Amino acid sequence: MGSVQIVTTILAAAITAVAVVLAVRAVMKMTAVIRLGQPAPERFADKGARTTKMLVETAGHTRMLKWSVVGAAHWFVMVGFIVLSLLVLEAYFEVVSTGGGLPIVGHWTVFGLVTEWIGILGLVGIVVLMAIRLRNRPSRPENRSRFTGSTMWQGYFVEWVVLLVLIFGFVIRGFKVATDHFEYPVWATPLSHAVGAALPAWPAGVSVAALIKIMISMTWLIVISLNVTMGVAWHRFLAFPNIFFKRDPEKPAGSGLGPLRPMTSEGKPLDFEEADPEKDQFGVAQVEQFTWKGLLDFSTCTECGRCQSQCPAWNTGKPLSPKLLVLSLRDHAYAKAPYLLAGGGKDLTGEEKATEAQLAHMDVLALAEAERPLIGSAEEGGVIDPDVLWSCTTCGACVEQCPVDIEHVDHIVDMRRYQVLIESSFPSEAGVMLRNLENKGNPWGAPQNTREDWTKGLGFEVPRVGEVDDFEYLFWVGCAGAFEDRAKKTTRAVATLLNEAGVSFAILGEGETCSGDPARRIGNEFVFQMLAQQNVETLNEAFEGREKSKRKIVATCPHCFNTLGNEYGQLGGEFEVVHHTQLLAHLVSAGKLTPVQPVDGGVTYHDPCYLGRHNRVFAAPREVLGDSIQGELTEMPRNSERSFCCGAGGARMWMEEKIGKRINVDRVEEAMATGAKTIAVGCPFCSTMLNDGVNGKGAGEDVEVVDVASVLLRSVKPDAPAGEKETAPAAG
Ligand code: SF4
Ligand code: SF4
Repeated sequence: MGSVQIVTTILAAAITAVAVVLAVRAVMKMTAVIRLGQPAPERFADKGARTTKMLVETAGHTRMLKWSVVGAAHWFVMVGFIVLSLLVLEAYFEVVSTGGGLPIVGHWTVFGLVTEWIGILGLVGIVVLMAIRLRNRPSRPENRSRFTGSTMWQGYFVEWVVLLVLIFGFVIRGFKVATDHFEYPVWATPLSHAVGAALPAWPAGVSVAALIKIMISMTWLIVISLNVTMGVAWHRFLAFPNIFFKRDPEKPAGSGLGPLRPMTSEGKPLDFEEADPEKDQFGVAQVEQFTWKGLLDFSTCTECGRCQSQCPAWNTGKPLSPKLLVLSLRDHAYAKAPYLLAGGGKDLTGEEKATEAQLAHMDVLALAEAERPLIGSAEEGGVIDPDVLWSCTTCGACVEQCPVDIEHVDHIVDMRRYQVLIESSFPSEAGVMLRNLENKGNPWGAPQNTREDWTKGLGFEVPRVGEVDDFEYLFWVGCAGAFEDRAKKTTRAVATLLNEAGVSFAILGEGETCSGDPARRIGNEFVFQMLAQQNVETLNEAFEGREKSKRKIVATCPHCFNTLGNEYGQLGGEFEVVHHTQLLAHLVSAGKLTPVQPVDGGVTYHDPCYLGRHNRVFAAPREVLGDSIQGELTEMPRNSERSFCCGAGGARMWMEEKIGKRINVDRVEEAMATGAKTIAVGCPFCSTMLNDGVNGKGAGEDVEVVDVASVLLRSVKPDAPAGEKETAPAAG
């Protein structure tokens, strides 16, 4: 070992020792913060499925590859990071000796070949990512950037570290080539040989370059250890557990989509018959009341802004960005943590847990952070502004896009639950809807005895459950389908088509009440449970003696479809629920319904969030429309998984939209830009929102918003007396 190698070895050892000590301290701190969260025992079930999913999503980059260029570039950088960590390890042998290398594998040509090409592709990948970040930087005024609000220096820092580590990997190899210490052939390591040809035969070059590489790597480790909220770096480690512990590992995509989690207290679902707000946690009022998985979510956010770029609230000028919401919760959790870890915190009655003596020794900044309300305006020092909380439509676009499986919607609804159930604090206009649900069993407050009015004048009998010996499908009409004029036309169209196809079905009639979706999404779990229990009881009675596969329900409202199919299981109601577009697609393909007259004028289709993204029903409505128009649909730019919300979900239907551009107008402009004369929908709420949007633009004469079922009915029975063409009886 020469004098240069002695110096490089000492310096490498010193900086590594500092970095490792700081990294261990950072991991302990992060673990302690995450452990402050509430229990979530269900996250430990299905370990096999979880492991498989984690490996598929990370190694296959299945979420990232939805954005093909970024996904591919990131994949090479990720693989480069994992494989080339071995080369950082090898650098420790190279600071000691010019000819040093990893024991055993370090002498294999295969190792040289693989690391060479991963290094080259990693270089290309990181340059692409740097270019994308620069092109989308928030400082460019023409950009409404997905990086707005991200901590940009952290992103640039991480990317430069990756770039320099990769470059110095080739410089080390180049010096080995130049000094004749390189064992791999030219064909396996062409770039290393090319670099070597340009470098002098400096004997100390290998050790000095290896030291620089170690210095860069350890500087990175020191910086991220001193910044535990630096998700853009920490996600390299945290993404693995965050994906492993995702809500539903069996789901093909978006574990946080579809059903909401039941309300839990200390890890157990809350039973409202016995629940006591002084003993049980009702939603989330303090950041430590999220589960540990919630705190892990916040820690894992990479600040990539994919969620933000798709959010309808953010894109129409509302203050909500799912990314900024997650970052606010993360920063608050880590700032408050010293107070909590020192014994501080409020119990469920709001009393301080720490003694005077404990409080006296606490960090003042942490104490000040602890005083901030979780939900509150800027003047109140709130972490999340109420306008942010109530802007969410629960459309799930954020969850769909998040590459590390953060479950934004669950966190938003958990915070809403506390606001509604304990604080009674929510947009006042939604109070009428909640009162109507409690008193009348539907959001409009329509009399229950008018639920069957839509059946009048159909020309055939619509039987009620109990009136027929047997039926294949229970037709769940839903409140909109029973009381809202436009939706009643869809109900009639579906009934007409089912009758035409010879499907035996029956309705609950006055036995049906609201599925509870708007109550649950606004956060009123109590009203949801009340309605859902009543419906589960009614449905279980209707299907008595039948196995699950024969407990078939068809629903026209995606919110009912989602609630009955995905959430009633939490209350003992197991049913096979299909959306009407699925059943109609089946009936057409089985030859039971035959479209005869093509519907012309061009048709575009708006995916309802709770049908498409939340439940992956993308194909069936498109098949029905394709058969009806006997041609190709005109797709909007934002369709299928990336469809843009109509603005009604998350109980937003019942709240005023006072900030920014109206979401339905944004969507209608996109639909009208396709030139289609018909905007087909599969949801009564989308229908209302888009109709309002079209009428607001004064285009009601030129563009029509109709349900998929009505389009099919026009094609199957061009002269049908029922359906869209007919004026439905007015709601009673
Ligand atoms: S669910 Fe939709 S509206 Fe809510 S934060 Fe996510 S993207 Fe935005
Ligand atoms: S998509 Fe996920 S990781 Fe990216 S900013 Fe949003 S929450 Fe964070």
